[in-house]
Amino acid sequence: FKPVVVLVGRPNVGKSTLFNRLTRSRDALVADFPGLTRDRHYGEGRVGDHPFIVVDTGGFEPVAKNGIMAEMAKQTVQAVDEADAIVFLTDGRVGLTGHDREIAERLRRSGRKVLLAVNKVEGMSRAAAAAEFYELGLGEPHAISSAHGDGVVDMIEEALQGL
Ligand code: GDP
Ligand code: MG
Repeated sequence: FKPVVVLVGRPNVGKSTLFNRLTRSRDALVADFPGLTRDRHYGEGRVGDHPFIVVDTGGFEPVAKNGIMAEMAKQTVQAVDEADAIVFLTDGRVGLTGHDREIAERLRRSGRKVLLAVNKVEGMSRAAAAAEFYELGLGEPHAISSAHGDGVVDMIEEALQGL
């Protein structure tokens, strides 16, 4: 059994950067252009003796009836359905957004195990960066830096715990 960890979050929060770090690959495209990862993207990660599947998604896009945005949202909903654990990424530099609140609500309704990650906190006070994210009601926010690796292993260990 390999647990499936799905990375969810609005565009540009660092999902693909985290995917690359967890899978040590350059597979997921990382760019400043939001929404570049248009499909689910599967890879394998490992912490200690525990392998897991990691899924990069194009994010929860605002609802669109057709076109690439609708397709991306559908892909993400399917990925959430397959998840043993979800890592919900937010951006600690931008702070909490309305879109984050909408995603949080949908993830709560999914009934899945959700870990809240506040990314891009290198060089910031972790406690200060995380503080405003408690109100999402998804438990303790994990302050991480996908680019530098800070906090990533601890967070994944917690995501895998009990699976
Ligand atoms: P995605 O759209 O959620 O997949 O986000 P990407 O992984 O493509 O990253 C979007 C931008 O954020 C890129 O310019 C990344 O280099 C940057 N980024 C990702 N993680 C971090 C981080 O931990 N710290 C900082 N400062 N930038 C990051
Ligand atoms: Mg991406």
